[in-house]
Amino acid sequence: AELWQDVPLAPPDSIFQLTAAYKADTFPQKVNLGVGAYRDDNNKPWILPVVKKATSILLNDETLDHEYLPITGLADFTSAAAKLILGADSPAIKEGRTVSVQTISGTGANHLGALFLSRFYKFNGTPKVYLSNPTWANHHAIFRNVGIEPVDYAYYDPKTIGLDLNGFIEALNNAPERSVFLLHACAHNPTGVDPTQEQWKEIAKVIAAKKHYSFFDCAYQGFASGDLDKDAWAVRYFVAQGLPLLVCQSFAKNAGLYGERVGALHVVSADQETANRVKSQLSVLQRSEISNPPSHGARLVSLILNNPELFEEWKRDIQTMAGRIIEMRKELHRLLTEELHTPGNWDHIVNQIGMFSFTGISPKQSKELVEKSHVYLTGNGRISMAGLNSKNIRYFASELDKVVQ
Ligand code: PMP
Repeated sequence: AELWQDVPLAPPDSIFQLTAAYKADTFPQKVNLGVGAYRDDNNKPWILPVVKKATSILLNDETLDHEYLPITGLADFTSAAAKLILGADSPAIKEGRTVSVQTISGTGANHLGALFLSRFYKFNGTPKVYLSNPTWANHHAIFRNVGIEPVDYAYYDPKTIGLDLNGFIEALNNAPERSVFLLHACAHNPTGVDPTQEQWKEIAKVIAAKKHYSFFDCAYQGFASGDLDKDAWAVRYFVAQGLPLLVCQSFAKNAGLYGERVGALHVVSADQETANRVKSQLSVLQRSEISNPPSHGARLVSLILNNPELFEEWKRDIQTMAGRIIEMRKELHRLLTEELHTPGNWDHIVNQIGMFSFTGISPKQSKELVEKSHVYLTGNGRISMAGLNSKNIRYFASELDKVVQ
């Protein structure tokens, strides 16, 4: 018998499939709102000017070679990355109880964090992770791959197109003690709905009472509000409350380094001695998975984070991206409410944050937009704000209006 005859054909990844369909479409006014990557006002990928500068510095640095990085990555990168998310004066860093490991972008950080939990976390019964409903689809696969079963917790309320805080708190209360909760640090994907600071405080209180473990995923620091510190608020608040946690960090979006795969996993422990043991085991896991992380992207980000001038320039670049997205939210809201008088309330468009917006339209309406209007979006009605620009936003607004009318 043929060796692989029992291997079933898997469906293609829906987002990448959507992109392929968009590319094949010859309609001149086609719009791609599926892609989770920043585009400038001309619908082009944007190489951050600060990244161009850092690249040329690296190119001219005669001291660099292609030797292996240490197993846990470039130390100048991981230590600066920890300060970026936890805060430069974080007590957890000062007390030497933070472990930081360079990973294959945010996906790799999620994987390494999940793998570490699967080996060492004292689960109450079968290993489970609580994921927001909905969440980034890959979270399910990443945890399943390491034998941790995903369980949904209430998060998004379709009635308000906002946060279901009561449902969320109830799920935290109903989960057994010491459960693992995956939390989006900012710019929740796919909904764009984040808890307010007051709501985070309520969430933290229950997490503390129930001794839950917080698995933070931070893929959009700076990208949400335009302010790196503001977007790190929840993580820093949890650390300040002494809650046990880890953070997955990605530089794909905020540095536009998608393909370079720059990220880190930070595990905040109770003390330095624990941190040393955690680090030793993360090194063992990393060794068997990838041996050593890639150097180029980490060198770029290290340069940007450790050089005060480049760091300031990066913050301006981040504001350019976040600012354009916030502008598009305002303009879409204005077009729908003031010009087209589209039925319904569209305030969520401006209240949501980050790359994505949940429009609240049905799968049928989403499908109609793809098939009749050449506007490509996922079936859940999620649109990437980065796909909108001053040239296509009017077309999109009027097509959206048509499917809603
Ligand atoms: N987590 C979330 C919530 C994301 O949206 C993404 C990017 N789509 C990632 C993690 C990881 O992305 P990357 O591996 O490219 O850093």
